[in-house]
Amino acid sequence: MRKRIGFIGSGKMAQAMMAGMIRSEVVVPQDILISSKTGQTRIKAAAQYGVHAVESNRDAARQADILFLGVTPDLHKEVIEEIKDNLVENVIIVTIAAGLTTKKVEGFFGRKVKVIRTMPNTPSLAGAGMSAMCANELVTEDELAEVKELFRSFGEVEVISEGLMDSIPSISGSSPAYVYMMIEAMADGGVKQGLKRDQAYRLAAQAVYGAAKMVLDTELHPGLLKDQVCSPGGATIDAVSTLEKERFRGAILSAMESCTAKVKELG
Ligand code: NAD
Repeated sequence: MRKRIGFIGSGKMAQAMMAGMIRSEVVVPQDILISSKTGQTRIKAAAQYGVHAVESNRDAARQADILFLGVTPDLHKEVIEEIKDNLVENVIIVTIAAGLTTKKVEGFFGRKVKVIRTMPNTPSLAGAGMSAMCANELVTEDELAEVKELFRSFGEVEVISEGLMDSIPSISGSSPAYVYMMIEAMADGGVKQGLKRDQAYRLAAQAVYGAAKMVLDTELHPGLLKDQVCSPGGATIDAVSTLEKERFRGAILSAMESCTAKVKELG
């Protein structure tokens, strides 16, 4: 049976997901309904993706079999209050909010509803997303598989226990930002040495992409792959030694700790 997919909030993350679903043809654009706070956002998004812009969050809720809540965590209570009496029977609620537990989302509805808690990331827009998800006890295995398939249309998916969900922003939800900073810094280093800016970005980004692909394709330990780049007495081990002295790994671990602490505050 064809399912209708609703998006309440059509911001960066919601658009990245719907673009992936449409591109991969797991859903036809006509089966996607979007609502947003501002008419302008939803009309622009509807024109861009060929989806239905509906007038209100309630209109989206009344028609969607799988309903994505694409608003920020602080707005979930308000949005759920608005839609809770307008749901399709057996609707699956999918939240992408950092820090909000399935229990808390259920609590906002004031009754038992099927909730899938997810954490995607913005590379979904390029079809290379990484998402984690968990479900409450009302969601059947088939339903979880169905939603997993939607997420697979824009990247990879891991199903994990809810207890680990707060850690996901730090490793895959927010981490593209750290990698963009690294690419920018590498390009600055290239420009400093005389490379053209656009070339420097391409060189840095492709090196990061290639290194990530090596980890995934070879399944070798990243430390071993690092060792393979470092010839004895060579330039790479010099760079590695400098990174260790500058606490490169420690900085990443600290950033991840602060990210997770913030996620817990948001919930
Ligand atoms: P965003 O600001 O781009 O989008 C939020 C959207 O919600 C906007 O379009 C806004 O108009 C809309 N909105 C606000 N109030 C509304 C209301 N009352 N009714 C309907 N729509 C309303 O934010 P985003 O980056 O897309 O993040 C949204 C959610 O995605 C957050 O919960 C965040 O935790 C999660 N998330 C974001 C990322 C990321 O990398 N940006 C990654 C994973 C998860």
